[in-house]
Amino acid sequence: MRFFNGGRISWAKPMIVVEDSDELVALYLPAWTPIKRRLGLDGLPVTRSIAFAERVRRPWTLGDGVWAGTSVLQLVKPGQARSYWAFWRGAHEEFLAWYVNLQEPLRRSAIGFDTADHVLDIEVEPDLTWRWKDEDEFAEAQQFGLFTPEEAAAIRAEGEAAIAVIEARGWPFADGWEMWRPDPAWPAPTLPDGWDLL
Ligand code: MG
Repeated sequence: MRFFNGGRISWAKPMIVVEDSDELVALYLPAWTPIKRRLGLDGLPVTRSIAFAERVRRPWTLGDGVWAGTSVLQLVKPGQARSYWAFWRGAHEEFLAWYVNLQEPLRRSAIGFDTADHVLDIEVEPDLTWRWKDEDEFAEAQQFGLFTPEEAAAIRAEGEAAIAVIEARGWPFADGWEMWRPDPAWPAPTLPDGWDLL
C-alpha cells in the first residue's frame, strides 16, 4: 500500500491481503512492521508539532520507519474514497477503535494498491461515538490549494456518508470485525521488489 503526496511516495507499507474481491479489499498491517515513511532531511519524522503550513513547504525524503504500537485492518469498498480502519493494541491484543481515513479510491498497481490521503478523517470509538479529526489541517490544505473547493466538498461529503453509516450501525461497524483475528501462521509482511517504482 503506497500513499502518494505531490506525485511522490510518502508511505509504503507492506500489508497482508486478507481479501481482494469485487466487494472488498481488506489489508492487514501488524504492529512493528518495517515500513517506508516520509522523513525530514534530518532523518527525523516530520511530527505534528510542526505547523501544517511549515510541514507542507519542508523538503522531505522517504526513509525507514516502523509501524509501531497498533495493528490495523483496513477495509475498502472498491471505488469508495474512504477506508475503514480497525485498530488493535500492539500485536493484536485488544480492540482499540475504528477510524475512517478519507483517501483517493484505491488504484491497483503491479505490486499492490496506491492512494493519496485526503487529510480529513473521522475517529470512531468502540461504542461508535465519532468525531471529525484534522478539520483544522483540512482547512489549511484548502488555503494552500491542495484541494479545489469542489474536491474539498466531495471529501467532506464522503466523510458525511461515512458518518451516516456509523450512525446507522451499518457495515463494517456491526459485523464482528472487532473479533477478527490474523492467522498466526502468516509470515511478517515485507515490501516486494519494485515498491519504489512509479
Ligand atoms: Mg487521513
